[in-house]
Amino acid sequence: MIEFESVSKTYPGGTVAVREFSLQVPSHRTVVLVGSSGSGKSTLLQMVNRMAEPTGGRVLIDGDDVAGRDAVALRRSIGYVLQHGGLLPHRTVLDNIATVPVLNRTPRRRARIQAAELLERVGLDESLGTRYPSQLSGGQQQRVGVARALAADPNILLMDEPFGAVDPIVRRELQAELARIQADLGKTIVFVTHDVDEALRLGDEVVVLRRHGVIAQRGTPAQILAAPADDFVRD
Ligand code: ADP
Ligand code: ADP
Repeated sequence: MIEFESVSKTYPGGTVAVREFSLQVPSHRTVVLVGSSGSGKSTLLQMVNRMAEPTGGRVLIDGDDVAGRDAVALRRSIGYVLQHGGLLPHRTVLDNIATVPVLNRTPRRRARIQAAELLERVGLDESLGTRYPSQLSGGQQQRVGVARALAADPNILLMDEPFGAVDPIVRRELQAELARIQADLGKTIVFVTHDVDEALRLGDEVVVLRRHGVIAQRGTPAQILAAPADDFVRD
């Protein structure tokens, strides 16, 4: 379980990104944070893997304050998927996926074999493994990003607008793929998006954010659809 305990973040320079945010993300669930740009979503994600440090409050994973964890080890133990894939351009698809396992001392050969299996899991043909990221479509790159995040077999996946840069049809395919992966693997997922339909499709729970990470509404997709808050504007 991930717990945000009254977490705040003010960036140097004084921008308040998050003000006293509290939330529990149960294990094996997908919680979607949905809100417009600047509402603090990315900052909230980054405080889970210590890419950002809270200026108030605590983030706990299974009861332990992440502030007490080694930041590099923590980051490698948590899958992180970004809008633009974040793939290393000069490494093949297989080596991109194998990066973290190799850093974690999995022998390279074995890591590559696992990477090839992960390609299949995210719906890509094994033959793409020897390509470089620039030789893939945007949707394929995002799938590789998901495979890379899964490679260290993390319990937690943090996903920051992972499908934001692909066209609507491919986006739907990727959403369906993620739902399948979640049904098979049961990860604890915190998924960030500004797309309300995406939030409703993917979330076991949906948390609607206003500025400064203030929670406007939260509930299951059915609960939110039954009584949407004013902030919850569908495109
Ligand atoms: P979202 O992901 O919802 O778009 P962010 O967490 O990226 O929101 O940003 C929340 C606020 O914090 C915004 O006002 C943004 O400009 C500011 N912010 C984000 N990252 C930084 C940073 N590294 N330094 C200073 N301000 C930042
Ligand atoms: P850095 O050199 O920035 O400290 P690492 O050595 O931990 O990063 O990781 C090397 C590469 O693997 C980086 O490009 C980073 O983005 C990526 N990476 C690290 N941890 C993860 C993760 N948990 N999920 C996906 N990619 C990761």
